[in-house]
Amino acid sequence: MAEETIFSKIIRREIPADILYQDDLVTAFCDIAPKAPTHILIVPNHLIPTVNDVKSSDEKALGRMITVAAKLADEAGIADDGYRLVINCNKHGGQEVYHIHMHLLGGQYIGPLVASR
Ligand code: AMP
Repeated sequence: MAEETIFSKIIRREIPADILYQDDLVTAFCDIAPKAPTHILIVPNHLIPTVNDVKSSDEKALGRMITVAAKLADEAGIADDGYRLVINCNKHGGQEVYHIHMHLLGGQYIGPLVASR
């Protein structure tokens, strides 16, 4: 059984967060340390630690994460200019919180992905 993270407490509204959207499958809230003018995290309500743990039964929630990302990007007024969706996995991906989450980053030019060497 995977260990819960702070995101489970946010989903259950046990600790404060700026929640922008919640339904039966996913929750979206503002990142506490934004890396762009718009930086939203979209998470499944049930705990999936990493992309490596994804099962076919998770597909509905994972698909909803993208639908909600598009809706929130539109509401934030950044859809036309564009944005980046990121899911980090494990150490080399820079994952810090082991409850799978999608970063929605935008509101400025993010640019192409570059190698960090
Ligand atoms: P990652 O490196 O992909 O695991 O990203 C974790 C993200 O969670 C970081 O961008 C953090 O700033 C963010 N974060 C950590 N704790 C909180 C919190 N309590 N509320 C909102 N965002 C958080």
